Amino acid sequence: MSDCLFCKIAAGEIPSNKVYEDEVCYAFHDIAPQAPTHFLVIPKAHIGSVSEITEDNSGVAAHIFEVIAKLSKELGLDSYRVVSNIGEQAGQSVFHLHFHVLSGRDMTWPPG
Ligand code: AMP
Repeated sequence: MSDCLFCKIAAGEIPSNKVYEDEVCYAFHDIAPQAPTHFLVIPKAHIGSVSEITEDNSGVAAHIFEVIAKLSKELGLDSYRVVSNIGEQAGQSVFHLHFHVLSGRDMTWPPG
């Protein structure tokens, strides 16, 4: 999508602090970290949010969760939270599917 911030980050057109990359997804540190470790994992192909996951593209989401499991082990994250906000009321501000991975501090439930 031509005017999508995360499409541009995945394409290297806007700089980011890369954590991981493969042919399907891209992971980078959040610009405004909410925990000592806070990175985002996004598909390279544009998907608006979890609500746009279908039979045709769910393999991308499965792959992203494999990558999150692999990265969390490599980074030594014993405990972490994976969050995806869907829609403005839930706090989504960038309308390209992304999973927040947060770790390194005590967290509360329910979330705010
Ligand atoms: P959400 O509000 O759930 O849609 O999450 C979007 C996230 O993207 C926020 O946590 C922002 O801090 C983060 N973000 C926005 N712009 C950038 C950027 N250029 N580089 C890294 N993270 C960003």
